[in-house]
Amino acid sequence: MKLTIRKLTIFVLALLLIAGCSAGGKQPSSDGSGEGSKPTGGKLKVVATYSIIYDLVLNVGGDRVEVVSLAPVGSDPHEYDPLPADVKNTADADAVFYNGMNLEAGNSWFEKLLETTKKTGENAPVFRVSEGVEAKYLTSTGNEGEMDPHAWLNVRNGMKYVENIRDALIQIDPDHETEYKNNAGAYLAELEKLHEEAVDRFNEIPQDKRFLVTSEGAFKYFSEAYGFEAGYIWEINAENQGTPAQVKSIVDLIRNKDVPVLFVETSVDPRSMEMVSKDTGVPIGGQIFTDSLGAPGKDGDTYIKMMKWNIDTIYDGLTKN
Ligand SMILES: [Zn+2]
Repeated sequence: MKLTIRKLTIFVLALLLIAGCSAGGKQPSSDGSGEGSKPTGGKLKVVATYSIIYDLVLNVGGDRVEVVSLAPVGSDPHEYDPLPADVKNTADADAVFYNGMNLEAGNSWFEKLLETTKKTGENAPVFRVSEGVEAKYLTSTGNEGEMDPHAWLNVRNGMKYVENIRDALIQIDPDHETEYKNNAGAYLAELEKLHEEAVDRFNEIPQDKRFLVTSEGAFKYFSEAYGFEAGYIWEINAENQGTPAQVKSIVDLIRNKDVPVLFVETSVDPRSMEMVSKDTGVPIGGQIFTDSLGAPGKDGDTYIKMMKWNIDTIYDGLTKN
């Protein structure tokens, strides 16, 4: 027995030695080449949990980063099954960005991915982009007290995400601090302009007409920022969606409030909203983006474009119906 433990100890020591040597071989260069803070040289490998964060990281990181989105465009980041390539990308990543606030929570997929890829612990380069955002909470039965994740639908919160991404990139790659600050500064100015445009545009709609009905109740942050009241079929994706009771409840609300138009999100199954439209005779005013960008080259394929698309679609829907 003693012998076995001793053998094991030697084996472990040998392993540690090997690990130490190979880590030594990858030490950052100190020759002033400018890659000192980036152990593997070249671009930072970044993983984002879904397409909206992907776009924000690209805007701040510019050509210093190589970004992949786990949940692909058009899919629902609440529930996602990582593929083998996602596991590899996450394991290899210099930085991992996620929304948090209960977004990537379905079946604990993101937490499990971090465990599998050993991206856990205080020093893991894993960053919650919603840090510092004031949370809103779910209210429907079974979800009470849980955070609502959809903070990015208020552009001011999107700006907070950008600041967090900037600070994280500077932390892991301080040699390119100026670049990250400049990129973020220019982008933040564009976002501030977008926010003000949205406020002005929606102020043209009388307050009692600003009612937004969607499938998922993703518009709490948006509604507060832009003066809307919101109704939904289900409060958050990943719960039982479009049950008869939920459909009845929204149908009653639409009739009581005399809602002129409904909206459906690009990343959900439209059938429940189509049923509500049929039951009430209220038309669907268009598709809007919530949990995903549009496909590359199509409408809404960046955060700015998706928000502009939403502003136009909601404005037109409420003013022309
Ligand atoms: Zn959602």
